[in-house]
Amino acid sequence: MKDKPEKNKEKLYYSILTIVAILSIILVATVFIMQSQKKDDNMEIAYTELIKKVTAGEVEKIEMTIGSTTVKVKLKGMEEGEEKTAIVPNTQAFIELIQEETLKGNEIILNQKPASVFLKIFDALFSLLPTIMIVILFILIFKMQGLGDKGKIYGGEENVNTGVTFKDVAGLDEEKAELMEVVDFLKTPEKFQKMGAKIPRGILLYGKPGTGKTLIAKAIAGEAGVPFISMSGSEFIEMFAGLGASRVRKLFEKAKKISPCIVFIDEIDAIGSRRTSSSGGESENNQTLNQLLVEMDGFESTETVIVLAATNRPEMLDKALLRPGRFDRQITIAAPDLNGREAILKTHSKGKRFSGDINLKEIAGETAGFTGAELANILNESAIIATIRGHNEIQKVDLEDAVKKVTVGLEKHNRVISEKDKKLTAYHEAGHAIVSKFLPTQQDVKEVSIIPRGIAGGYTMYKTNEDKYYISKTEMKEKLVALLGGRAAEKIALDDISTGASNDIEVATEIAKDMVTTYGMSDIIGPISLKPKEPYEQSMFGENMDTLIGSEVKELIDNAYKIAQQIILAHMDILHAVAERLLQKEIISAEEFDEFFV
Ligand code: ADP
Ligand code: ZN
Repeated sequence: MKDKPEKNKEKLYYSILTIVAILSIILVATVFIMQSQKKDDNMEIAYTELIKKVTAGEVEKIEMTIGSTTVKVKLKGMEEGEEKTAIVPNTQAFIELIQEETLKGNEIILNQKPASVFLKIFDALFSLLPTIMIVILFILIFKMQGLGDKGKIYGGEENVNTGVTFKDVAGLDEEKAELMEVVDFLKTPEKFQKMGAKIPRGILLYGKPGTGKTLIAKAIAGEAGVPFISMSGSEFIEMFAGLGASRVRKLFEKAKKISPCIVFIDEIDAIGSRRTSSSGGESENNQTLNQLLVEMDGFESTETVIVLAATNRPEMLDKALLRPGRFDRQITIAAPDLNGREAILKTHSKGKRFSGDINLKEIAGETAGFTGAELANILNESAIIATIRGHNEIQKVDLEDAVKKVTVGLEKHNRVISEKDKKLTAYHEAGHAIVSKFLPTQQDVKEVSIIPRGIAGGYTMYKTNEDKYYISKTEMKEKLVALLGGRAAEKIALDDISTGASNDIEVATEIAKDMVTTYGMSDIIGPISLKPKEPYEQSMFGENMDTLIGSEVKELIDNAYKIAQQIILAHMDILHAVAERLLQKEIISAEEFDEFFV
């Protein structure tokens, strides 16, 4: 309803733009053709030649247009209508010359015509055309920018809502309970105002992408039956100075007009990151952030607008955003736990047909750490895979392959792999699997494969067990060993090492660094947090501490690599056997793998 006139306006601007463009092309083309035609039958005489011909009495008639330096010349003996042109630099002097000649008895007819109005306008228009075009283009571009400012609006004045309610948000029970208060406020603001209660204006939702932040914001609007306007922080970042700020202003203008409503700002870190004093894009960013602060402070108590913002990088946000009256309430939306995952899977399995052997609880158990979006994606992929395979319902294999597709990437059957690379991958993956088998804290192997998936040449998949809130130092150290098991096997079995271990090494280094700088797990350094709070923050402990961190990280990694090599060396027979089997079958299941150890 609100959208309509704006859509039409936009169409109108597009049509005007097109018409202007076509007209100017036609205009330029006509002038061009006319000029080139002129040139075609151009029989121009040079000015000096013309003077000679005038004085020699060869000229019969001269036609001049006032204000123009081009004259038409009819020579004696020429047919009617046939004429030459000449450029006369000084028309006054030329007229005097002809008058003199006429006095001498040299009969020349001199015709002086006023310039045609049409030609004059045409001339002026033509010389101004580029300027006019540019001005029109600029106006149109700016108008269009203005049109883009409206934000997406779901619903409208009639309380038509997003269609999403809390029922569609699976799990997140405590968060929903907390946000129910906001729903009440949107429904009956008077009740709260009478009591003198202050309801938060701004609520910040922290959480990884795909955890359902947008969904829950829409559900609040749906529950309260109010419109939902949303915009993403990255949309505010503009090339032209001031546009980001004006977008923020317009967004809130609109919100106030249709209040009560929900404003949702996704990726608020894109505008709300700490203000800096530098120039260019940064200062543009500051203007946008300042405008947002102004808007948050500028609500009247009668305006029922709740602003929800989402980010997964809370540490990046400018502290000013979090002050009272602004985003003073923060809610963390964590990745779902076991029950949450089961609930999400249930919600998204509606309308899908599953075979009897599928147990969503089991899938939930195998997907620790997955977000709601990933779980929804898995179910959708399983339906696609089942369709392609011609199954009439989603089978267990379809679902399992969907999990793999979403986690490790698509199988790349077509990639041509040399025997040498295959052997290397086989030993690498066998190394991971065997080393993990001897580490008490590490998960059991679920599948080992040398079929390339995504960017990986092969993979070792582990069973997941229930979500844990804490990870012990022993577990982290053993994780390092498992990660380096691939490299250790390559080195020992093939006496060479490859780039295939680069990701393992990266992950291992990151874990070791966290152990030392975040979790205080280094005996030498002790429980001190050494992680920079901001990017590029100067270390406050000086160079010596940096050296110490480096040597502690190196020690952790060196130790882990040594242990991995020891385990491999003690079980060379199993390593060869597993690698052989992988080369034969490409893929080994958990049961098959365990048989190597009996
Ligand atoms: P975010 O805004 O946190 O990045 P979204 O709200 O856009 O995540 O979630 C993406 C999709 O994932 C949703 O549209 C929904 O299909 C699914 N999803 C995420 N969390 C849940 C949940 N708790 N219940 C049901 N579906 C969910
Ligand atoms: Zn590896």
